[in-house]
Amino acid sequence: MNDWRLYRRLLHQMRPVRARFVALFGLELLATPLALLLPLPLKLVVDNVIGSDPLPALLQPWVPAAWTRPPSHMLIFAVGLVLAIALVSQLRSLCAALLRTWTAERMVLDFRAQLFQHVQRLSPLHHDRRGASDAAYRIERDAASIQYLAIDGVIPFVTALITLASMFYVIVQLDRALALVAVAVAPALFVLTRIYRTRLRSRSREVKKLESDALGVVYEVMSSLRVVKAFGQEHRELARFVDTARLGMRQRLRLAFAENGLALLVGMTTAAGTAAILFVGARHVVSGALTLGELLLVMSYLAQLYSPMRTISRKVASLQGHLASVERAFALLDEHPDVPERADALPLGRARGAVRFESVSFGYDASEPVLRDVSLDIAPGTRVGIMGRTGSGKSTLLHLLTRFFDPLSGRILLDDVDLRDYRVADLRNQFAIVAQDPVLFSTSIAENVRYARPDASDADIVRAAQAADADRFVRALPEGYATPVRERGMRLSGGERQRITLARAFLKDAPILILDEPTSSVDVGTEAGILKTLERLMRGRTTFIVAHRLGTLRHCDLLLTLGDDGRVQVREQTASDTRHADRSSDGEDGALSLAGRENDDPRS
Ligand code: ATP
Ligand code: MG
Repeated sequence: MNDWRLYRRLLHQMRPVRARFVALFGLELLATPLALLLPLPLKLVVDNVIGSDPLPALLQPWVPAAWTRPPSHMLIFAVGLVLAIALVSQLRSLCAALLRTWTAERMVLDFRAQLFQHVQRLSPLHHDRRGASDAAYRIERDAASIQYLAIDGVIPFVTALITLASMFYVIVQLDRALALVAVAVAPALFVLTRIYRTRLRSRSREVKKLESDALGVVYEVMSSLRVVKAFGQEHRELARFVDTARLGMRQRLRLAFAENGLALLVGMTTAAGTAAILFVGARHVVSGALTLGELLLVMSYLAQLYSPMRTISRKVASLQGHLASVERAFALLDEHPDVPERADALPLGRARGAVRFESVSFGYDASEPVLRDVSLDIAPGTRVGIMGRTGSGKSTLLHLLTRFFDPLSGRILLDDVDLRDYRVADLRNQFAIVAQDPVLFSTSIAENVRYARPDASDADIVRAAQAADADRFVRALPEGYATPVRERGMRLSGGERQRITLARAFLKDAPILILDEPTSSVDVGTEAGILKTLERLMRGRTTFIVAHRLGTLRHCDLLLTLGDDGRVQVREQTASDTRHADRSSDGEDGALSLAGRENDDPRS
C-alpha cells in the first residue's frame, strides 16, 4: 500500500470523530502563541527594566502607561506576565490532554469494532490458514496504532510546522542573516529522515510479524494444554515460545538502534545550527547590528525553532512503527470474505428444503479435489444418510451446503435458487447444525441452548433440552440450567456437550437439519434415546446425517457413500434395506456390511 493511500484511509477512518479532532487541533494551535509569549518577560526585563529602552511599539496599545513606568512597576508587570502565561498554558494542556484521550480511545474502539466485525465475516478457512492469533494481534495491538498516527502523529506534526513557520518569521524580523543560518540545517534533517524512514518501516513490519508469531504459540498451547501436558511437552513449547520471542526482541533492538541513531544525528545537526547562530549573532551584537536583548531573544526562539524540527524528524521515525501496524490492520480489512454476498441478494423466509447439487466439485487446494462432480437431487423432507471413510469429505459436503465456502465448479441450489443468490444470513438461518465437534461458549447452559434462538423463553429451553435428552443431566448439575460451562464447555463431558448442541437444534426449528455424527460421543444406550428423539426432530425437515454406524442411518430415505476418489454413490433405501440394517445395527460392522455389499454389486 503506498503512503498516500494509507493516509487517505486514515483520514476516512477519522471522519466520525472529526468535530472533536478539530477542537483538539484548535487547542494545540493555541500552544504556539503561548510559546511565542514565553520569552517576552525576559526581554522586557533586560531591555526595559535593566536597560532603558522604551516599551516595544507592538505592546504599547495593550499595556497602560502606569504599569511600565517607573521600572519597578515594569518588573512587577513582567513577573506577573510569567505567571499569567503559565496559568493559561497549563489550562490549555489540561483540556488538550483530556480531549486527546477521549478522541483517541473513541477512534481505536471504532476501528477495533470494525475489524472484529470483518473478522467474523471471513470464512473459517481464512483463519485456519492464518491462525486465530494473527487476527487477535491485529485487532488488539495493531489497531491501537491508529490513535498514535492521528493524534500523536498528525497534530504535533502540523502544530510543529506552524510553530516552525512563526518562529522563523519572528527571527527574520529581528535579523535576516541569522534566520538564514538557522534554517540551513533543514535540508540536512530532511535527507536524514528520508534515509531512515524506509529502514524503520521495514524493521517495524518484521517486529510485528515476529510478535504476532510468538502470540500464536501462546494461543496454540493454551487451547490444547491438556495435550501438551499429557505428552509432557511443556519444555518444548516454552523453548518454541522463547525462540520466537527472542527473534522479536532482537528485531526490536535493531529498531531501537536505528531510531536512536536518527535521534542522535538530528540532535547533532541542530546543535551545529545553534553553534553557528551563536557565532554569527555575537559578532552582530559586537558590530551593533543587534541588541543584546535581541540576541537573547533569537537564542531562545532558536531553541523553539529547532524543537519542532526535532519533533518532526523524530515523529517521522516513530510513526513508521505505527504506520506498519495500521497497514497490517487495513490489510486484514481488505481480505475478501470467501463467500461474498451479492448486492441484490434474495431474501429467504423459510425454505421448503429442496436441495440440488449440480456437478459440484470442491477441494481446499485446487490441485487436490475432495469432492468431484457430485450431482444430487433431494426432495423436501428427505432424510439423507451420508457414509464414507474418514477424510472422504462428508463434513466438507455439509460445509458447502451451509456455504462456509463455495464450490470450485458446479452449483448448489436450495428451492431451485443458487445458494450464492441468497442473503448469507438468511441462508444460514435455514439450517440447524449439530457439528462433529460440539462447541459451547463460556456462559450458562441455558444461554448456550438459547444461542439457536435468542428470543426463546426458559420453558422453550427446557423443552428443547428434554427433547435432546439433556434435561436429566442438566438438572443434576449444582446450578441446573444456570451452571456455567467454562471456556469451550470444558465443564461438561463430550457426550453432554453433544446433547446441548442437539438441544440447540431442537430449539432452532429450521427446515433443514444437519447432523454430523450426532451420536459419536455418547454410549449405545444414550444413542438409542437420541435416535428416538432425532426421529421426532427430523419429521417434516430435510435432514443430512453423517454416521459411521449403519444403525444410525436406518431410517434414511437416501444413502450417499463418499468414495476416496471424491465421487458420490447414491442409493435409495427401501424397507428391506432398513430391516437388514436393523439386524446388523448393533455392530460396528454395520457400515462395513453395507459398503461390502455395494462393492460386491457388480459381481452379483
Ligand atoms: P471424518 O469422518 O473424519 O469426519 P470427513 O469425511 O468429514 O471425515 P472432511 O472433514 O470433509 O472429512 O475432510 C475431507 C478432506 O479434506 C480430508 O482429506 C481433509 O484432510 C481435508 N480437509 C478438511 N478440512 C480442511 C481444511 N480446512 N483445509 C485443508 N484441507 C482440509
Ligand atoms: Mg467429518
